[in-house]
Amino acid sequence: MKAYFTDLFTGAWSLIVGLKVTFKALISPVVTVQYPRVKNEVTPNYRGHIDLVKDAETGSHRCITCGSCMRECPSGCIVVDGEKREGVKGKALTVFTLDFTKCSLCGACVEVCPTQALDYSQEYELAGSAREDFYYDLLKRVEERE
Ligand code: SF4
Ligand code: SF4
Repeated sequence: MKAYFTDLFTGAWSLIVGLKVTFKALISPVVTVQYPRVKNEVTPNYRGHIDLVKDAETGSHRCITCGSCMRECPSGCIVVDGEKREGVKGKALTVFTLDFTKCSLCGACVEVCPTQALDYSQEYELAGSAREDFYYDLLKRVEERE
């Protein structure tokens, strides 16, 4: 008989403890979002893959095709190329690609750039089923960006 009441009390007590946790969660502030329908703001310090900065004044990139980032990159994941154009000082940028499969996000390219033409993107939804999905045309990206 004693064992019966002990079991009854233990069961009731565990139910109360469980419900306490449930009610506490019910009245606590919601800290999650309904991703992907709702998305959180990304902190400005977030380091996504590198990206060409769009200059607010000119509406174009700031790259002068010096190639410093390409030479400095320890993983060899940047390819920069340009061409001489009539009436344009220096080389006009024609190719700027990033192989993100090899990038370690060390930031050397961002630091070495003399015109602050590179920054980290805020991209975090990066998924793909092939290596080529992570080869980015940064020149095309900056041209298409609003
Ligand atoms: S962050 Fe580092 S590894 Fe990535 S592209 Fe720049 S220099 Fe290369
Ligand atoms: S270091 Fe800067 S200016 Fe030079 S090629 Fe790279 S992004 Fe362009």
